[in-house]
Amino acid sequence: MVYDVIVSGVGPAGASFLKSVEGFGLKVLALEKSEFPRKKLCAGGLTPKAYRLLKSLFPEVDSAVRVRTRRFLLFNDTRRVEIDSGEVLTYLTDRTELDNLLFRSLSADVHEGEGVVSVEREGELWRVRTEKGSYLTRVLVAADGVNSRIAAQLKVNRDVGFTYEADVKNSRGEEIVVDFSGFSWGYYWLFPKGDFVTAGLGEFKDRRKIRTLKEVLEKFNRKHGVKGEVLHKGGFPIPCGRRRNDVCRESLIFLGDAGGLVDPLTGEGIYYAVKSGIYGAEVVKKSFEKGNFALLSLYKELIDRDFGREFFWARIVGKLFFPLKGLNFSVIEKSAGIAELTAKLLSGEISYFEGIKSFFSFVPKALLKG
Ligand SMILES: Cc1cc2nc3c(=O)[nH]c(=O)nc-3n(C[C@H](O)[C@H](O)[C@H](O)COP(=O)(O)OP(=O)(O)OC[C@H]3O[C@@H](n4cnc5c(N)ncnc54)[C@H](O)[C@@H]3O)c2cc1C
Repeated sequence: MVYDVIVSGVGPAGASFLKSVEGFGLKVLALEKSEFPRKKLCAGGLTPKAYRLLKSLFPEVDSAVRVRTRRFLLFNDTRRVEIDSGEVLTYLTDRTELDNLLFRSLSADVHEGEGVVSVEREGELWRVRTEKGSYLTRVLVAADGVNSRIAAQLKVNRDVGFTYEADVKNSRGEEIVVDFSGFSWGYYWLFPKGDFVTAGLGEFKDRRKIRTLKEVLEKFNRKHGVKGEVLHKGGFPIPCGRRRNDVCRESLIFLGDAGGLVDPLTGEGIYYAVKSGIYGAEVVKKSFEKGNFALLSLYKELIDRDFGREFFWARIVGKLFFPLKGLNFSVIEKSAGIAELTAKLLSGEISYFEGIKSFFSFVPKALLKG
C-alpha cells in the first residue's frame, strides 16, 4: 500500500498538520517514536497568539492551561523591573499534558512507539523505514523535532542553542521571572505551573557555557528562592531560527523544530510549530487537489514570508538588547511606555519590527528623565 502522506513525529507541529488535513480524504499515517503521555523538555509557555492559534485547531486546549499570568519580573544583576499588563501575557502548560491532549484529539492512524530510522527516495515515492517495518508514501512530512532523524540523514544543517531545565515542586505566585544576568544571548526563566515550577536557562550563542548550564541553573535557583523536590531535569538543544531555513525537499516538508523554526531571541517555538503545521497542510492539500507535488515549494515561500522577516528583526532586537543590557534596563525602568512595549513584545502581541520603531520613539524621553 502507498500512503498519500506520512508524518514523522506528533508534537505540536505534527499534531497541527494532522488536525488540519482531517476530513480531506488523504491516506495518512503518523509515526511517533514515543508513547503518549510522553515528556518533552520545554517550559510550556504559550504566548497569546500561540494560545489563540492552538485553540482554533484544538478548542479543548484550555484544559491543559495550568496558569494564566499577567505579570513578568525582569532581572539583570541587581536591577529588577516589574511588568503588569493587566492582560494575560502567557498561558502556562505542562508539555506532557498539552501534547497528550493534542494527540488524543486526532483521528489519524498514529503508530506510537515506532520511530523513523531512515528515509530514501524510491522513484516518485519516499520509502520510510522504522524498526518495525517499512512504508511507501507520496509526501513525507518531517515533524520529528530539533534532533530530526530525517534532517540529519538529508544533511540539512540547523543552528542550535542549548538549554537546561528542571521541574521543581514548589507553589509560587503567578508571575513569570526572567533573569538576563551574565548571558551573552539567553536568559534564566521561572514559569509557575500551580503545584510546581519550571526553572530553566538557555544560552543560544556562547558554546563555551554549555557544560556549565546545570551549575548556573542551581545558582539562579538559589537567587530566586527556588527550593523543593526536583521532579524532572535535563538538557536539550533548541533551534536558533535562521532568517531563511531549508524547509523543503522533493515531496518533503519540514515543520516546527525539524525545520529550525524557533524565535532566535526568546526561544518561542510552539507558535511556529503549530503555524508551520497549518501552512504545511494547506500546501499538501493544494498539491493533491492539483495533482502537482511541485506546489509543495509554496511552503517555503509562506515560511520565508511570515517567519523570515520576524526572525530577522528578532536578531536585530537581540543585537541591540544583549550587549547593552544595563542601559536597556534603565530605559525600561524609566519609561512606562517602554515597559508596556516590552510586555507586548514578550507576549508576541506586536512584531519585532513594530517594537523597534516604537522603542526609538520612547528612548529620547526616557534618557532625558535620567
Ligand atoms: C528547555 C526548552 C524550553 C522551551 N520553552 C518553550 C516555551 O516556553 N514556549 C515555546 O513556545 N517554546 C518553547 N520551547 C521550544 C518548543 O519546545 C519547541 O519549539 C516545540 O516543541 C516544537 O514542536 P515540534 O512539534 O516541532 O517538535 P517536538 O515538540 O520536539 O515534537 C517532535 C516529536 O517527534 C517525535 N520524534 C522524534 N524523533 C522521531 C523519529 N525518529 N520518528 C518519529 N517520531 C520522532 C518526538 O517524540 C516528538 O513527539 C522550548 C524548548 C526547550 C528545549
